[in-house]
Amino acid sequence: MADPLCPHFDTGFEAAPPLTVCEECVKIGSKWFHLRQCLNCGRTLCCDQSPNRHETAHSKAEGHPMMRSAQPDEDWRWCYPDELFFIPDGDGGYEVAE
Ligand SMILES: [Zn+2]
Ligand SMILES: [Zn+2]
Ligand SMILES: [Zn+2]
Repeated sequence: MADPLCPHFDTGFEAAPPLTVCEECVKIGSKWFHLRQCLNCGRTLCCDQSPNRHETAHSKAEGHPMMRSAQPDEDWRWCYPDELFFIPDGDGGYEVAE
């Protein structure tokens, strides 16, 4: 029996594997540091250490609360409105990081 992690965690959207580029940075010829993926619509955008912070801008503009890392070596999710960081629970699901 799993408690809901937060009201936004289950987006009801099946995000495809992320791209290997920031969709907005490629349009403007900019660079990014790390990639994030919106779990509410599947767009791949750049992180807050990138000059354009496209994922956070996208979340604010569209009201899309959930994102995950799109780095190949990372597996975590983030809820913007709740400011909750989720990590794998070792059992195929996620748990809130302490
Ligand atoms: Zn939430
Ligand atoms: Zn970007
Ligand atoms: Zn989105």
